[in-house]
Amino acid sequence: MNIILFGPPGAGKGTQAKYLVKKLNNFQVSTGDILREEIKNNTEIGKKIINVIKDGKFVNDDIVNQLLEKYVFDPQKKNRLIFDGYPRTINQAKNLDLLLDSSNQKIDLVFFLNVNKDTIIKRIQKRKILEKRSDDDLDTILKRYDTYMETTKPVLSFYSKNPNFHEIDGTDEIEEITNKIHTFINV
Ligand code: AMP
Repeated sequence: MNIILFGPPGAGKGTQAKYLVKKLNNFQVSTGDILREEIKNNTEIGKKIINVIKDGKFVNDDIVNQLLEKYVFDPQKKNRLIFDGYPRTINQAKNLDLLLDSSNQKIDLVFFLNVNKDTIIKRIQKRKILEKRSDDDLDTILKRYDTYMETTKPVLSFYSKNPNFHEIDGTDEIEEITNKIHTFINV
């Protein structure tokens, strides 16, 4: 099963991705983690994107699309992908369709974790203390939220017409969200 977790920063995509990875024995594909790894390893890409991420802006589609390919085409991961934080633009959504098509895969489920701005701010400020992410300060959170509203929210209409699309109240407790997701995965 290939699943997309969709929603604003701080919606709980990473938390639910980890649950699905365990439950389905799948693989989490978090583009945020992949990009942070590039920065940590001080690669050419890492050097290019460090300030973009710090500013709460989106990394260029070409860079993200290219980094994603090896995960989609990895035979071990075929039909076992949990996308967390990708796609975030219409270009990325179309790219994902192409990559999946060409490897005989599809998206089985899309979960939209819907959370309001106040909850996001509270959650991310809490996460900053736990994970010490440099893009979790209030200024950057607000920028990331604006970027989401402008660029990512339109991606919703790309998926929301499909019968495999499910909107879930992301302000609920973690366990409640997990239980709701569970009702759709039939495992
Ligand atoms: P995340 O860990 O998903 O919150 O991502 C952290 C940051 O990485 C985002 O604010 C963006 O700057 C960048 N990023 C992660 N995923 C993507 C993506 N699919 N497209 C563009 N930028 C991304």
